[in-house]
Parts: sequence; structure tokens; C-alpha cells
Amino acid sequence: MSKKEDQAWGFATRAVRAGQRRTSEGEQSEPIFTTSSFVFADAEEAAERFSGRQPGNIYSRFTNPTVNAFERRLAALEGGQSCVATASGMAAILATCMALLETGDRLLVANGVFGSTMVLFDNYLSRFGIEIERLPLTDLSAWEAAIDSRTRMLFIETPANPLAEVADIAAFAELAHRHDCQLVVDNTVATAALQRPLALGADIVVLSATKYIDGQGRCVGGAVVGSQETVGEAVLGFLRTAGTSMSPFNGWVFLKGLETLSLRMQAHSRNALALAEWLAAQSQIEHVYYAGLPTHPQHLLARQQQEGFGGLVAFDVPGGQAGAWRFIDATQLLSVTANLGDTRTTITHPATTTHGRLTAEARATAGIGDGLVRVAVGLEDVRDLQTDLQRGLDALENIVS
Ligand SMILES: *Cc1c(COP(=O)(O)O)cnc(C)c1O
Repeated sequence: MSKKEDQAWGFATRAVRAGQRRTSEGEQSEPIFTTSSFVFADAEEAAERFSGRQPGNIYSRFTNPTVNAFERRLAALEGGQSCVATASGMAAILATCMALLETGDRLLVANGVFGSTMVLFDNYLSRFGIEIERLPLTDLSAWEAAIDSRTRMLFIETPANPLAEVADIAAFAELAHRHDCQLVVDNTVATAALQRPLALGADIVVLSATKYIDGQGRCVGGAVVGSQETVGEAVLGFLRTAGTSMSPFNGWVFLKGLETLSLRMQAHSRNALALAEWLAAQSQIEHVYYAGLPTHPQHLLARQQQEGFGGLVAFDVPGGQAGAWRFIDATQLLSVTANLGDTRTTITHPATTTHGRLTAEARATAGIGDGLVRVAVGLEDVRDLQTDLQRGLDALENIVS
């Protein structure tokens, strides 16, 4: 029923075709299997399935055909052998750590990774005897110096949110493997459409599907991609027991999202570059953080490693928190929400929202200033976005920095 998949398919073809297994109904678009369990032909088949001797579905906490279709398609796009879908991006990160780390291990993590990731590591993993050390994303020699024989995992996010710092994934992978560590890359911000960390040597990709994979701000979900042994066995093993699985409905939404991911990422990148250039030309803006600008310290690396610079633009306004809030409150079109990867442009104040649970010191180390504003550029007309940001600029008049 389904056409044979071809390893040589290009990215766009895989995005719309990979992973589909038509049922005997001959449906063109994938159905949603809303069933919690699956029926066996007889008691013997049930026993065979439960023992693992016979492959097949048992219960939707373990596997579900709709979720599996999403997993196969995302694996094909990220270029991994295996993909496991999770209830959220955080569940993907938790499952990866629970599957691969144990008491006494050291985990090195980049400063400025997603706020909840840092809280998960600092407040929870550390309670189970996993030692966490934070390091600057763009200083590889500091990582080299910090690795010891107990270090098991290097965890980075590139491009980093919200400051758009870019790490050299191939160099990180080389360092990790020289010391017998695994490199985990959070690929939420670039997505497979703009960057494929596994092809650059990373061992595992984790991501929040909530963002660009959904792309329309509807569902929460995540995924882990990597080898059969680490992801298909170790991570899946944890997940099916712990129960942070993806729902079939969300799996279906994300499956459909993958079909337009590449087109959307190109449009997000185009709009964001136009706004970043415009913001950089405004005298009231103190600094613009966007890797597409030639002034960005990792501009060349981003050009080489990514197929686009993505949709996140951050900038410093004068007046600290008061200035940032005044700017945000003056906008009329932009949504004041912390989500990103939506068709609708969103605006947020990282210091009091996404990064608000960090200590002031941790925020300062991560470079998140009080006057920092982040815009996740959507798919509206750039002209309308510019008009709205101009309202923010106008509200900054007579603020002194
Ligand atoms: C949102 C996000 C996460 C967490 O994903 P959820 O789906 O919200 O749990 C992890 N990493 C990055 C970079 C994110 O933006």
C-alpha cells in the first residue's frame, strides 16, 4: 500500500513521505489511532508480544501507530536510526538523562540553555548525585579543561535561545568522543530543516516539538533522536516505564507539521533577518543578537553549519526591566507570550519569564540582561511587524539607560 521508501530521497520528499504506513483503507493522509490498547488474536500472541519475541503494539504508553509515524519521519529528517517521541521537550531531556546517566557521573552543560533545562539539572538531577558544571558555549577549551574520567555527557543548545550564540557541533563531537562522552544537542531552535547535528557527529538530538515542528502554537511535545542502542532501547526503555509518552493526537499534529517545516523555517529566517537588520539600524537599540548579522561573533560558523539563521531575534533596550516592559507593552500586534515557533510573532522579557527562575547571578553568567527583549518572528508581513516594533521604540523616548 505505501510506496517503498528510498534512502536517496531529498529532505522535502522525506518530510512529506517518510514513515507513512497505509492501512488497508488506503487513506492518503495518516489517520489518528486513538486507542489506549491493542487486541491480540489469542492468548499466545499476547504472551509473545509481552515477552518481546513478537514485535507489535501492546499499549499506547509503549507504542502507538500515529506516534510511530511521527517518530519514523523525524528520524528520517534528523538522519538518526531511531526516534522516540515524548510528552514535551522537557520529557525528552529528562528521558535522555535518566537513560544514560547514573549517580557519580558528571554532566557538562552550556550556560544559557533553556531555563527549565537548567532547573531540571540544578534542582533535580543534582539530587541524585549527578554533578553539573556550566560552561561558556563558545569556549571549547574551557570544556576540554573541565572533562574528567567521570564526565559522561556534554549538553549544548545551538543556536542558543535567546542570545543566538552558535557552537561548533563537529568540534564538540570530536572533543566528546576523545573523552568517551556523549554529545547531546538540543535542536529545537534550528530544527532539522536548518541543521542536522547527527551528521556533524552529535550522538543524540533532543528537541521540543512544541515550537517549530508544530509551528502553529497548538500542542506540547518533544523527541529524542539517535542510535538504535541509545535511543531505540535505553531512552525508549525509560519512557515506556516512566510514562511521559506523546499522545496520538499530538503525534498527528506534529507529523503534519513536519510536512511544511522546511518552507516555514525558510520564511521565519527571512522575516527575522529583515527585522534584525532593521533593528540594528535603530539608534535606541543597544545591541541586536542574531547570527545572520555579519557583526555576530559566530556569523561565519552559523553560515557554514546552518541552512538559515532561524526565527529568534533578541535585543537590548535602554532602561533595564522598565524599558523592556514599556517596549513590550507598547506593541499591539505581537503576542506577549513565551512560546516560540508559532506563525504569530511573539515577544517576551526573558529575565522575568523564561529565565526568571534562575538566580540573578546565573542570569548574568548567561548574558540575560534586564533590558533584553526576545522576539520569535512569525509569518506575518514584515512591514506590519516593523510598524509594531516601531511602537515599542517610540515608547522608549525619554528613557535614559
Ligand atoms: C521549549 C524548549 C524546551 C522545552 O520544551 P517543552 O516542549 O516546553 O517541554 C527545551 N529546549 C528549548 C531550546 C526550548 O525552546
